[in-house]
Amino acid sequence: MKNLIRAIVLLSIIFAISNCIAKVSKKEKELNAIIAKLKPLHKKMAMPQPGDWLQYNKESGQSFVEYVRSDPVIVTKERKIIYIQPIGDFTEDEWKIVKKTAEFLSIFYGLSVITNKQIPLSAIPEKAKRINWGKEQLLTTYILYDLLKPKRTDSTILLLGITATDLWPGKGWNFVFGQASLRERVGVWSINRNGNPSGGEEAFKLCLLRTIKTASHEAGHMFSIYHCIAYDCGMCGSNSLSESDRHSLAFCPECHAKVIWATNTDIVKRFQKLIKFCKANKLKKETEFYEKELKAIQK
Ligand SMILES: [Zn+2]
Ligand SMILES: [Zn+2]
Repeated sequence: MKNLIRAIVLLSIIFAISNCIAKVSKKEKELNAIIAKLKPLHKKMAMPQPGDWLQYNKESGQSFVEYVRSDPVIVTKERKIIYIQPIGDFTEDEWKIVKKTAEFLSIFYGLSVITNKQIPLSAIPEKAKRINWGKEQLLTTYILYDLLKPKRTDSTILLLGITATDLWPGKGWNFVFGQASLRERVGVWSINRNGNPSGGEEAFKLCLLRTIKTASHEAGHMFSIYHCIAYDCGMCGSNSLSESDRHSLAFCPECHAKVIWATNTDIVKRFQKLIKFCKANKLKKETEFYEKELKAIQK
């Protein structure tokens, strides 16, 4: 009798595991089919130019399959809200950028985004501040691990700090646009170097484009996505503003599949909403590219 019960338990476990593998394989298969449809639209990564990120940083890259096998941070039944944490002061136009970026992130990752009450700069201790080339800077490691990490709640999938003050990540660095943890679900980015959003329509648009690029990139890291080295992609590393301006807002087919894997977002609805957002904000090149992607997956 005991042996019979053991055999039944064993069989149930094997059945459950094989069921689970079949499910995973189905989702992977579907996303691999989407990758194949999107591939022809995306440019392979060009040779790095002098001073580019890949000239200084050795990156291993990460395929969609490698990502799936890496046990990445993904949305769960409880953890499904992105929180944005404003840090320091913002002008009226900078607040508009923050608001629009929250809207973009919500569409890009298909999740609710809540913006927390602002934390004043006076709450950051002197040891996490410095003046570099005349600019005030905040230490990213302090923001990530001392300020943001304790503020995560049960519903937090990501907690993203945003500031108009410049950032630096520690000894030997001049500045960073943003920084995020691949495992701890915290990140921070700055709009300080993204241009002047009060400098007219074009300047506002440029600042918005740069900010949503950094925000989607840092959030990507927080879902355990590595830097992309295969395509011109929103997940490529950048050493300068001119380099990040060269990279596209859109994620490449492999990184796009990682986003869907982590969030379970409806692919068609996501593209439709991205098109609507880019159109409303007069981001012409980006609108046209997302339209092409939507068309490709509907074929
Ligand atoms: Zn990065
Ligand atoms: Zn990519």
